[in-house]
Amino acid sequence: METPIKIALSKGRIFKEALPLLAHAGIEPLDDPETSRKLILDTNQDAIKLVVIRAADVPTYVRYGAADLGIAGKDVLMEHGGDDLYEPLDLKIACCRMMVAGPENYIYNNINNNDDNFAFAQTGKRLKIATKYIKSTQRYFAEKGIQVEIIKLYGSMELGPIVGLSDLIVDLVDTGNTLKANGLAPLEHITNISSRLIVNKASMKMKDKVVKHLINSMSDAVNKLTALTTK
Ligand code: AMP
Repeated sequence: METPIKIALSKGRIFKEALPLLAHAGIEPLDDPETSRKLILDTNQDAIKLVVIRAADVPTYVRYGAADLGIAGKDVLMEHGGDDLYEPLDLKIACCRMMVAGPENYIYNNINNNDDNFAFAQTGKRLKIATKYIKSTQRYFAEKGIQVEIIKLYGSMELGPIVGLSDLIVDLVDTGNTLKANGLAPLEHITNISSRLIVNKASMKMKDKVVKHLINSMSDAVNKLTALTTK
């Protein structure tokens, strides 16, 4: 028997929203990752397994061929780099926005200082931004031509400005309820985020028939589902 095709994805919102797309491609998991402790889920197709891992690890599994395909948020892919993977399809699921957020109406000052353009916080000190999206934050402020101090966190970024760890945060925003509940507001839109299908470069060549079939049927599913939701 040929080695099964492995698709890596994270549980939670991405898994739930990917289910109808996978179903359209004829793939139905036999276990629910919310209740099962299995990390590799069988599906109704012997030749296809789902590997359930942390969202931030999905590009790494696919990059090294531990999974042939993966479903990962654009936020995660932007941090990973992504040059070593194919990204053939926007699945248009788990949509949200990457934003700079902070206290409502917060204004920071850009001060040009000997060729260096620093952003200063209202405290007069260099602007501090807490985030887990280091590369995206660096790129965004570099494109604006200003330097900021970036503080790496692994979660609960909203706490940063509340406890005085940072002036602002960069995080994903969907409804805006999490920001609001913590007395913060969205300030600047960085980019729109959705989940993407990613493919290992060797699998794309060696298992091209199955992989291309999967890409095509998921693409078909995305078109059908987006046509339904925009009606
Ligand atoms: P909300 O309160 O609806 O704006 O959701 C914001 C919270 O959910 C933040 O903690 C985000 O990091 C997280 N979040 C929102 N959308 C996504 C997404 N598509 N993928 C991962 N995390 C998300």
